[in-house]
Amino acid sequence: MKQDTKIINAGRKSKWTQGVVNPSVQRASTVVFESTTAMKHAAGNKTNQVLFYGRRGTTTSFAFSDAMVELEGGAGCALYPSGTAAITNAILSFVKSGDHILMVDTAYEPTRDFCDKLLTNYGVETTYYDPLIGAGIEALIKENTSIIFLESPGSITMEVQDVPTIAKIAHQHDCIVMLDNTWGAGVNFQPFDYGVDISVQAATKYIVGHSDVMLGTATATEKYWPQLREHSYTLGQCTSPDDLYLALRGIRTLGVRLNQHEKNALKVANWLKTRPEVETILHPAFDSCPGHEFFQRDFNGSNGLFSFVLNCGNQKALNALLDSMEHFKMGYSWGGFESLILGITGLKNMRTATQWPYENPLIRLHIGLEDVDDLIADLEQGFEKFHQVLATS
Ligand SMILES: *Cc1c(COP(=O)(O)O)cnc(C)c1O
Repeated sequence: MKQDTKIINAGRKSKWTQGVVNPSVQRASTVVFESTTAMKHAAGNKTNQVLFYGRRGTTTSFAFSDAMVELEGGAGCALYPSGTAAITNAILSFVKSGDHILMVDTAYEPTRDFCDKLLTNYGVETTYYDPLIGAGIEALIKENTSIIFLESPGSITMEVQDVPTIAKIAHQHDCIVMLDNTWGAGVNFQPFDYGVDISVQAATKYIVGHSDVMLGTATATEKYWPQLREHSYTLGQCTSPDDLYLALRGIRTLGVRLNQHEKNALKVANWLKTRPEVETILHPAFDSCPGHEFFQRDFNGSNGLFSFVLNCGNQKALNALLDSMEHFKMGYSWGGFESLILGITGLKNMRTATQWPYENPLIRLHIGLEDVDDLIADLEQGFEKFHQVLATS
């Protein structure tokens, strides 16, 4: 089945839809049983999406988990109330005191915080590594390394990782390969084809796609799915059926949305490339992006999120640009239908294994589904304000 057809059919088993087009919103804490036999059957049937107790899931979560597995692959999908919860629970489910994990230096900031502020308290040590390390990862693996965590492209700076090379070496040393696949969105990167064992997503972003739900997912291979499922359940993770319904609705337009985000973003990035203020474009589809060759080799396409670095400017000029925007709103998320802008300085302090080479500010854009000419005009007037302030400061 081709990707767009999968997107339309994902999770829509008649068992979940009950004869209408969409799976229903099944709200439940208590599940009631007609007999002791039925109760015993449900309690012993953790693997087969049987109603047991609300925290174990309802038909709405079964439909959404199925949909994620159909899109991304793997043997099962655990659900969490946020992408961050998906990351922390996936890691917690597979480490013990005394372990060591390898974390990519460009990981989402709360992922780093979790390693530095919580895992250390539990006696789990983290070493950060260069996202472009490739086969060099082998030198960092220790006797007690249990997880190698990747995020590709990296948060904010967009480095694309050589996932299959790292995965192959990880497996030679019995390490579990986890990937934050939020940018790939389950469509543009197929994690299990490249050796990933557990793929995590902030479904908050493109899966939901409308900036109105927090949601996380973790899909796992046959080998790791039972432990991920049971440990996440033990940690008390569950999600609201209303949120899952919105996520299922989001999935139906994932293909067309991503195509349009991609098209608009490429147009904006190509325009930015002609601007005298721009030092470099950090968009995986551009050869100026570190790891671009792995994007070309492994990805099916891009989306609306990329960054660029300025070759001049200061905080005041950057603020003037940001404050002047009409269509680009300032916000920390991405993946919704709307355009967003984020000005970032101080990247040097956010990396420990690598040196961020630029002095001037970086701007991260999420290109939404507006008419792209309006977006370019918005940036153009923003650059004018930027120069006005730069000239006087
Ligand atoms: C947003 C984001 C997350 C966290 O998701 P939340 O749902 O906001 O907790 C994790 N990884 C990446 C790459 C993200 O962009």
